[in-house]
Amino acid sequence: MISYFHNKTCLIVSKHQKEIVIAPILKAKLGMICVSNSTIDTDALGTFTGDIERVKSPYETVKEKCLLAMNQPKIDFIIANEGSFGLHPFIPLITADEEFICLYDVHENEFITEKMLFYETNFSSVKITNLVELDTVLLNLKFPSHGIILRSTGVIIKDLFDLSIIRSSINKILIEEGHCYIDTDMRAMHNPTRMKCIEQLTMKFANTLLSTCNQCGWHGFRIIEHKEGLKCSLCNRPTKSTLYHLYRCKKCNFEKKNIFPHKKVAEDPTYCDWCNP
Ligand SMILES: [Zn+2]
Ligand SMILES: [Zn+2]
Repeated sequence: MISYFHNKTCLIVSKHQKEIVIAPILKAKLGMICVSNSTIDTDALGTFTGDIERVKSPYETVKEKCLLAMNQPKIDFIIANEGSFGLHPFIPLITADEEFICLYDVHENEFITEKMLFYETNFSSVKITNLVELDTVLLNLKFPSHGIILRSTGVIIKDLFDLSIIRSSINKILIEEGHCYIDTDMRAMHNPTRMKCIEQLTMKFANTLLSTCNQCGWHGFRIIEHKEGLKCSLCNRPTKSTLYHLYRCKKCNFEKKNIFPHKKVAEDPTYCDWCNP
């Protein structure tokens, strides 16, 4: 029910201007009044640049980010986001960006979360040993539309926008160390690709927030499991394809199965391990 969120104040916790993409969606789809606060030190929970290590899972971290803002006055909801980058969990040599978003309901003391996995990311780290390869490396990392970070033993240099400064900084590191790492800056305000992912996640999240439990009416009624077992049209044996989506309410544990979610009642034998091993 949209009335639950309409005209309520939502604080977006971000040091990296994520409110630019999050606030308009929450306003348009839920009627929320969004405010932002960039002074809450979410970096204390871990940074991408590696100067502070994130010790908890992204799911726990995003919840903790919300709680950092708990003492702010006149707030109904708090929203935070957390990203996790690395090799794709199933596809070799592909990098992925898993984004988590969380809403903390101050009055109900409840969390509602959503996540999405994206293949579109420039996340990478390149080791260079000379300045000749610099232009190609920067192009591959999408600089200057995307930020970069220089890293060597005990040194992290960020907020680099001027090519001549980048060149001279790398040169200095190369003289001292013989090599230098150029990392992509994954902070949202320096990474339009990631900002787009956060925008898409927020769109999905708005729908999640509006989805309510059939039993108790609580928000955030969402898919918690994709259950495999759709039967093969030829041999009638269960395949790895999705048979149903399982929804569960976080508040009352009510469950609902949405059978044949892809409008497909049997799987093509091509995808059957028995018919096409
Ligand atoms: Zn419920
Ligand atoms: Zn089969």
